[in-house]
Amino acid sequence: MQAFQVNAPQDYRLVETEIPDAAPGEVLVSVAFAGICGSDMHIIHGDNAFVRFPRITGHEFAGVVESVGEGVEDVAIGDRVCIDPVINCGHCYPCRIGRPNVCTALEVIGVHRNGGFEERVNVPAGNVHRLPEELGLDAAALVEPYTIAANVLDRMQPHPGDRLLILGAGVIGLTILQVARALGIEDVTVSDVIDARLDTARQLGATRTLNGAEQDVEAEIQALTDGEGMPLIADAACVPALLPQMLRMASPAGRIGLLGFTPTPSDLSQLEVIKKELTLVGSRLNNRKFPEVIELMASGRLDPLALISHRLPFDDMPGAIEMLDHHPEKARKVLIQIGA
Ligand code: MN
Ligand code: ZN
Repeated sequence: MQAFQVNAPQDYRLVETEIPDAAPGEVLVSVAFAGICGSDMHIIHGDNAFVRFPRITGHEFAGVVESVGEGVEDVAIGDRVCIDPVINCGHCYPCRIGRPNVCTALEVIGVHRNGGFEERVNVPAGNVHRLPEELGLDAAALVEPYTIAANVLDRMQPHPGDRLLILGAGVIGLTILQVARALGIEDVTVSDVIDARLDTARQLGATRTLNGAEQDVEAEIQALTDGEGMPLIADAACVPALLPQMLRMASPAGRIGLLGFTPTPSDLSQLEVIKKELTLVGSRLNNRKFPEVIELMASGRLDPLALISHRLPFDDMPGAIEMLDHHPEKARKVLIQIGA
């Protein structure tokens, strides 16, 4: 079978591998679709500190169960599934308090072990989620990025009537926008520096958009909120230099959700945090958000297909990577069709 393997930074190719048997406690999934994520690009560029090479990446995928390993009872051959990439130990401190996504022994499918960019992949039976009939396998490959949105919004604890500012209208910004609207957050401002992305944000329900290349986002937010500031700010731009501005734009008692994965420090003022008693929350992967997102998608309250800019066959995967390297502005979610 075919697999997309990253051997080392910048060294990736489609390779031919053996079809594995389903391992005990695991199921063998025949992958239908897998999405390319910014974090796959980081692995390919060698700026993911956690990855071990060689690696078959891919943590956003859906497919059909082809065989089940010894001891697996809740999943059957033929089940249409998508896969939660979070594998946790179950007994460390974060696991004990219900935070498996930051398990001290965290393993992420597609990062620490092989993922969905191959025709068949073994995954623990506990990580698969059966899909309702109305959900296509293409849409199901996008459940994972929406769980990122559901997770950061949960961490930010919205109150009824809270306004939300999303920095960045890339795929993650747009998933936060859609999940926020689905959860009843009515007033959502989205900022970016690319007009085409802002157009998409308005089509997907943004109340208003701000182009940071042309407008003073901070002044606009102060004007919009009569100087009070934003109760909720989600950072999907992940530019370290924006963090001090987020502190200034937040309202007293505001919550800021952070998703950036860069080690570059930000210049923070303690006073700014303390005087407004701000809450800064990190959000990593997802904490058991698959059922909620599958339900929101199946009920039509999310529009995952609107995020797909390219659908490409598996053979075109190296070309897709090159396109994303050189023209990231041309793409939203790039979906790779791997199986039938
Ligand atoms: Mn992702
Ligand atoms: Zn653990």
